[in-house]
Amino acid sequence: MFPDFDYSARIEKARAAMVDAGVDVLLLSLGADLPYLSGYEAPATERLTMLVVPSDGEATLFVPVLEAPRVVPRGDAFTIRPWAETEDPVTLVAGSAGAAATAALGDRAWAGFLLRLQEQMPATRFTSATPVMTEMRIRKDPAEVGFLRSAAEATDRVVVRLGETRFAGRTERELSAEVRAMCLEEGHDEATFASVGSGPNGASPHHDASDRVIEEGDAVVIDFGGRWRGYCSDTTRTFHVGEPPAPVAEAYEALRAAQDAGRAAVAPRVPAQEVDRVTRKVIDTAGYGEWFIHRTGHGIGLEVHEHPYLVEGNSMPLEEGMTFSIEPGIYLPGEFGMRIEDIVAVSGNGIDELNDSDRSLHIVS
Ligand code: ZN
Ligand code: ZN
Ligand code: ZN
Repeated sequence: MFPDFDYSARIEKARAAMVDAGVDVLLLSLGADLPYLSGYEAPATERLTMLVVPSDGEATLFVPVLEAPRVVPRGDAFTIRPWAETEDPVTLVAGSAGAAATAALGDRAWAGFLLRLQEQMPATRFTSATPVMTEMRIRKDPAEVGFLRSAAEATDRVVVRLGETRFAGRTERELSAEVRAMCLEEGHDEATFASVGSGPNGASPHHDASDRVIEEGDAVVIDFGGRWRGYCSDTTRTFHVGEPPAPVAEAYEALRAAQDAGRAAVAPRVPAQEVDRVTRKVIDTAGYGEWFIHRTGHGIGLEVHEHPYLVEGNSMPLEEGMTFSIEPGIYLPGEFGMRIEDIVAVSGNGIDELNDSDRSLHIVS
């Protein structure tokens, strides 16, 4: 599923970052850090999978013997050490990494494994692998941007199809299932989520999909995405069943202007929080500031939410290769919600828009 990147070069780069950070061994289990360095993603089960990367030695992937056939061998990058059902993987990892003064553990590793590792490695100081891994993952190379673009283009085709879909009389859940099916038909390997918030449900930004029947006069927020060769898509468009009344049309005009302004603000060296300030200012000025209750965006890559976050307080300068969402929204409790979300990449001189489907309020029947 994951592309054939040069994982040995990535591990080499991680070693250099570890030396800078004073980390002797990197321990990666669940989450995206492991596939970033190995091309292998561990299932979230009680059986431990862990990549052990010493700063000055061979990397070893400890994997349950029954899952070893899932691993694409990459002998230049790491050795595979399958462990049998009667072996204790924590003891094996501790045996391999126990001499380390400082071990950096991936944030998504289960706390249960950390507690047992701490018991078996009493002389080791444990720290987070995130500083080392984020520094590598936050800037995408052109091949990674290419996978994110393919994923975004597939969601753009789904938006076009949704514009021709009947909404009235169907439940949110039915429509959500249809969106997921479309994502797969358009080439995603996995349809991860399809939130459909109709009428008052649209005012809950992370609404899932309920048995509410969509009716004439509803605004419908559809936020969906999946994975394409491991890379995530995430887009939102707002639909309206029939012509929108003035309050909806006016709020949408402000939202659209805010999202346009956010995209226009993206360029290398611009602080991440500046993009948030720009969208928020447009929505504030139009009088809806109180109803824009979340940050403007989040980084995206192997994870749907990752660094950098476009939020007040994050002064990190944007750099070429950073990829993130721009997704202002307006949510009037009990009435309606609306959001426009696109994935963009920072290019050498500005913005590379990975999503480019129609951003207007889509009128459907
Ligand atoms: Zn979200
Ligand atoms: Zn989204
Ligand atoms: Zn998002």
